[in-house]
Amino acid sequence: MKPKKIPMRMCVGCREMKEKKTLIRVVRNPEGEVSIDPTGKKSGRGAYVCRNPECLKRAIKQKQLERQLEAVLGPETAEALQAELAAALAGDAHE
Ligand SMILES: [Zn+2]
Repeated sequence: MKPKKIPMRMCVGCREMKEKKTLIRVVRNPEGEVSIDPTGKKSGRGAYVCRNPECLKRAIKQKQLERQLEAVLGPETAEALQAELAAALAGDAHE
């Protein structure tokens, strides 16, 4: 058996390469709306952050998320994203 290649992605917050499955995808859909994509299956342009609110915060603050998604994030969107990430992380804890 060949060793399976593990897909890696870079967190836009801390800019570290991590296993894709340990990261959370943020997606900009074709309508230009940015949201957290816990399933990783939504269509659109994606960026990845650690399952860590600090990484998302940093990615927003340093405009890395905007750059990666080629989208402009208003303060409301930034807040909504942080709330969505918190909800996704809370969901993990209950699994
Ligand atoms: Zn990170």
